[in-house]
Amino acid sequence: MPLGALGSHGGYRKQEGQRQRGQGEPTWGLPRAKKRLLWTLLLFAFGCSGLYLYGFRVLRHLEGIIPMGICPTATTSLLTDNFTGILRPWARPEVLTCTSWGAPIIWDSTFDPHVAKQEAKRQNLTIGLTVFAVGRYLEKYLKRFLESAEQHFMVDQSVVFYVFTDRPEAVPHMTLGPGRLLRVEPVQGESRWQDVSMARMRTLYEALGGQLGQEADYVFCLDVDQRFTGNFGPEALADLVAQLHSWHYHWPRWLLPYERDKRSAAALSWGEGDFYYHAALFGGNVAALRKLTAHCALGQQLDRERGIEAVWHDESHLNKFFWLYKPTKLLSPEFCWDLQIGWRTEIHHPRLLWEPKEYALVRN
Ligand code: UDP
Ligand code: MN
Repeated sequence: MPLGALGSHGGYRKQEGQRQRGQGEPTWGLPRAKKRLLWTLLLFAFGCSGLYLYGFRVLRHLEGIIPMGICPTATTSLLTDNFTGILRPWARPEVLTCTSWGAPIIWDSTFDPHVAKQEAKRQNLTIGLTVFAVGRYLEKYLKRFLESAEQHFMVDQSVVFYVFTDRPEAVPHMTLGPGRLLRVEPVQGESRWQDVSMARMRTLYEALGGQLGQEADYVFCLDVDQRFTGNFGPEALADLVAQLHSWHYHWPRWLLPYERDKRSAAALSWGEGDFYYHAALFGGNVAALRKLTAHCALGQQLDRERGIEAVWHDESHLNKFFWLYKPTKLLSPEFCWDLQIGWRTEIHHPRLLWEPKEYALVRN
C-alpha cells in the first residue's frame, strides 16, 4: 500500500473519530461545536479588552512615526519673530517648524530664551494669565496650577493672574514675586460642565474689554487642569498664539475631530482646517483676543439658538476661528503635553503637563 494511501486512510479514520466525538459525546455537558463557539467568544472578548487596555497605547507609539512634514528652506530663512529674533528651525529637523502661511512653530532649541526674555523686558510688557476654576475644579487643581505658574510662567516679567471663580473666598492665598499680582473675578456657576467651559469665551471677551485689557499687553488663557513643569517664557508671545493639540499633531487632516455638522457655526468641511488646536491654551495681544473670544462666543450663541452644540464645545469654535484667522505663532506639543501618550523622542522639555483627568470627581 502506498504510504500516501495509508496516511489518508489513517487521516480519514481520525477525522471520522473526531466527527463522532464532536457530534456525539458532550464535553462539560456541551456539544463540541458549542464549546468551540464559547472558546471563540471568550478569546474575542479577551482580545477586545486587551486592545482596549494596551492596544491604544501601542497605536499611540506607532502614530509617533508618522512624519509631520518639513518646513521649506525658503520659509526657514524668513522665520523671525518679535520676541525670539532669528529662529533656528534646522535645530529640529525631525519635526515641522513652520506653517504654510509662514508662522513659526516653536520647538525647544529653535529659539534663544535669553533673547526673548530681554526683548520682553525692553518692551516693558505686562503679560496676563487667565484661568477658570468653577465648582470642584477649584480645590482639585487651582493651587497647584497657580504655584507652578508662579514658578515657571514668564519669570522676571510683569504678570497679572486672573482667576475667574464662583467662590472667590476659596482661592488659595499666594505669595507672588515683585511685579506680579493676582486678581480674583467672580463668575456664576453653571449646571453643566460644558456650559462652564463655553461661558469662558464671553467672560474673557468682557474682561479683555475692561481692566484686564487695560493692564495687560499680551494674555494667555489656560485650562486649570494642568501644571507648569518648565520655563514658559516670552518665546511663546505673539499677536495670536495657538497650541498644537498633543493628541493630534501627527494625524492626517481628515481624521482631525473638527465639528462636521454643517448647521454649527463651528463647522469645517472636509479639506478645511490646518492643524487641530487645543483650547487648553491660547493667547495673543488684547485686540486679537477680543476678536477671537467675540467670534467663539457668538458662534456658541448661534448654535444654542439652533438647539445644537459643537462636538468639542469651545474648542470646536476655536478651531474654526484659527482656520479663518491664522495664528501668527504655534506652540509645539512640548508646551502642553499629556504624559498618558507615553514617551516620544521629539518631546524634549514639557512646559505644561495635563493633570490626570478625574472627571468623576470634578464634573457634574
Ligand atoms: N471648568 C471649570 N469648572 C467646570 C468645568 C470647566 O472650572 O465645571 C474650566 C476649567 O478651567 C477647565 C476648563 O474649564 O480646565 C475646561 O474644562 P475641562 O478641563 O474639563 O475640559 P477638557 O480639557 O477635558 O476638554
Ligand atoms: Mn482641560
